[in-house]
Amino acid sequence: MDTINVKQKLAVLALALCITASVLAVGINEQPKDVILIGWDGAQRAHVNECISRGELPNLQKLAFEGSAVNIDVKEVTDTKAGWAQILTGYSAKTTGVYSNAKYRPIPRGYTIFERLKDIFGWRNIVTIAVIGKKDNIDDDEPQLIPLEKVRMGKKGKMLMRQGEVITEGGKGYLRIPGKPYYYTKDDMDVFMNGLIKNDVVGEKALEELDKYRGKRFFLFAHFAEADTAGHKSGENSMEYTDALISNDKWLGKIVQKLKDLKIYEKTLIYVTADHGFDEGQQTHRNAPYVFLITNDPTPLSPGTRADITPTILKRYGIDLSKIQPPLDGKSLTK
Ligand SMILES: [Zn+2]
Repeated sequence: MDTINVKQKLAVLALALCITASVLAVGINEQPKDVILIGWDGAQRAHVNECISRGELPNLQKLAFEGSAVNIDVKEVTDTKAGWAQILTGYSAKTTGVYSNAKYRPIPRGYTIFERLKDIFGWRNIVTIAVIGKKDNIDDDEPQLIPLEKVRMGKKGKMLMRQGEVITEGGKGYLRIPGKPYYYTKDDMDVFMNGLIKNDVVGEKALEELDKYRGKRFFLFAHFAEADTAGHKSGENSMEYTDALISNDKWLGKIVQKLKDLKIYEKTLIYVTADHGFDEGQQTHRNAPYVFLITNDPTPLSPGTRADITPTILKRYGIDLSKIQPPLDGKSLTK
């Protein structure tokens, strides 16, 4: 599992110098005003590297060239709920209560990067936005109490619903389903939109939100689900999986272009990461810890884990991490 390496960077450099010097973008050396975190759900590091070496992800390559690309090795469960909860908080599952797709609770109030930024900058001083491809696993549903007779049963009387626990109240049986991870979070956000499914819908929404909030300080999370969906359906080595990564890259390019059109690219940091990879050649991601963090930030980064992403972003916003309670489990990757 090699990193996006110096050789590839040099190859881009040679190409860039041949064509024009103007691709050398102005680096954001000062404190950025805005941050965009782009999620490529289920993007396996090795597959992304192969695509880059074939020139299939030009926008990601360009981002890495302007800034840096480091390996992220996942230490906890490699699924979607656990992944984004950790990425969006800087905490381990012990702290958030989001261990996996099946074992979770609402993330405690105030613990996500969205709420943290509102808290530190003040509600009116930063806009926090999430546009999310998935519905399940990155959701905000309230807790539910379903009478047992209404729960769908399969053969042998086994509940079809995997999640939740059976409780008894007033002599009656219920299935109690906990609130979803962002049940509290969404109250403290300007925009929380999920279940958009298609990359094109997520991408268009992201561009709309950027237009809408132009001129304000913002943090935008844009989550692209198609690579994960294609991986489950057709396998990690399928053409469909590659096509989905290419679609992710196309939208990265459109977001960069939008920032340039709005004349805010120079003060906006973009980070691209994934919640988990894929089991090599499989339709699953049971043990798929190899992902990446790629950014246009010219500040050098060290490799790390999923929990380091929120601290990295908070530090680049100029926030003193030592004042955050409870203490973050991750650390900033800026050197
Ligand atoms: Zn998945």
